[in-house]
Amino acid sequence: MEKKIPYKIYLKEEEIPSQWYNVRADMKNKPAPLLNPGTLQPMTQDELSHVFCEELCRQELDNDTRWFDIPQEIRDFYKMYRPSPLVRAYFLEKALGTPAKIYYKFEGNNTSGSHKLNSAIAQAYYAKKQGLKGVTTETGAGQWGTALSMACAYFGLDCKVFMVKCSYEQKPFRREVMRTYGASVTPSPSMSTAVGRKLLEEFPETTGSLGCAISEAVESAVSTPGYRYVLGSVLNQVLLHQTVIGLETKAALDKYGIKPDIIIGCAGGGSNLGGLVSPFVGEMLRGEAAYRIIAVEPASCPSFTRGRFAYDFADTGMICPLAKMYTLGSQFIPSASHAGGLRFHGMSTILSQLYADGLMEARAVEQRSVFEAAELFARVEGTLPAPESSHAIRAAIDEALKCKETGEEKTIVFGLTGTGYFDLYAYQQFNDGTMGDVIPSDGQIAASLEKLPKVEE
Ligand SMILES: *Cc1c(COP(=O)(O)O)cnc(C)c1O
Repeated sequence: MEKKIPYKIYLKEEEIPSQWYNVRADMKNKPAPLLNPGTLQPMTQDELSHVFCEELCRQELDNDTRWFDIPQEIRDFYKMYRPSPLVRAYFLEKALGTPAKIYYKFEGNNTSGSHKLNSAIAQAYYAKKQGLKGVTTETGAGQWGTALSMACAYFGLDCKVFMVKCSYEQKPFRREVMRTYGASVTPSPSMSTAVGRKLLEEFPETTGSLGCAISEAVESAVSTPGYRYVLGSVLNQVLLHQTVIGLETKAALDKYGIKPDIIIGCAGGGSNLGGLVSPFVGEMLRGEAAYRIIAVEPASCPSFTRGRFAYDFADTGMICPLAKMYTLGSQFIPSASHAGGLRFHGMSTILSQLYADGLMEARAVEQRSVFEAAELFARVEGTLPAPESSHAIRAAIDEALKCKETGEEKTIVFGLTGTGYFDLYAYQQFNDGTMGDVIPSDGQIAASLEKLPKVEE
């Protein structure tokens, strides 16, 4: 007899994963290596370690080790907010009248309000273990900066956050959470770095971009003794840490013998999606199972669906290593009217390779339809979702509605990456009916792609 599935499937504390899973070990086509922008040769451990912590560089470059032990100190911290629940969206299913079974993995149950804490605590741990004084980073909407501030406070590290200026002004409360956890927060572009000064000279009115804030944070790290730079998404190491999401999801599903048909995640830099799907993609790569994996991105920043698979910079200042990824060009800045997050121009190299190899699908969704999905979800499931997460909700609802037409009882799993309490300015625009969506034209994207660095392959 089929076991009754509870509304929330909780794992026990001792079931928090003890290892992260490195999907690269099972990939036949490995993600392309990061290149030194000067020599166009693959970045070495030595070169990378000027910017990043040593152990994190090792994780970044390791395409072969399948499992990485999670240090006990990190597992202890995970206990504060993990295991996170896998929820059966009974109320949403009922509201949609769908025969589909919908589950979501909820990562918003911590003060930072998102999954980003999973990697922040790991990165802070390795920085501390290396004897560093502090770390620098950038933050857009603020979730990553908040998560990192919490992690640094826990390990007694300095934390310097460059926050994209428009968010710094629009989201003063996030800024105050970071300061409460002891971080220093600088609006970017700033006069405190050469990259920032140059940009301000050229565009005094600029409200900043993620790419520019990254350049400033990297410059600040390499020019301050005892500091390294840390990043909240895109990198292989971040995706590795985020596999706790997928491993817990799989363990919870296995408990009840549930096999998903479709797994959905929103895609900014790709870390939550990669972390959620890694264990499932591993099964696909080893020929053990088949799933449909769907990446959902905003129509205003469509890296997968309209970008090019090419080497590009991760930052506007063009000082970071080159990564081969789906990109809109490092100078691409999504319209200021786009409030739904996921604004990064590029994508994880791992997910880019999986997408190029046909192991994943991608779709772009428009902002208003994302907030319509968020509104329905909030009303029936209770949780106010982050706009980023709501991209995944949109696609999950659309797939469930297709099942309603065909009568198929598919099992859909999606990642609910966070809560939207600090995104109420965006919700206000939606509620007032003033929310627009500026979708880049083909010409705009082509112009941005023209500036890609020339790399022979
Ligand atoms: C940062 C963030 C994302 C997107 O980042 P990924 O690296 O693509 O996962 C999604 N949801 C929330 C709530 C976030 O804070």
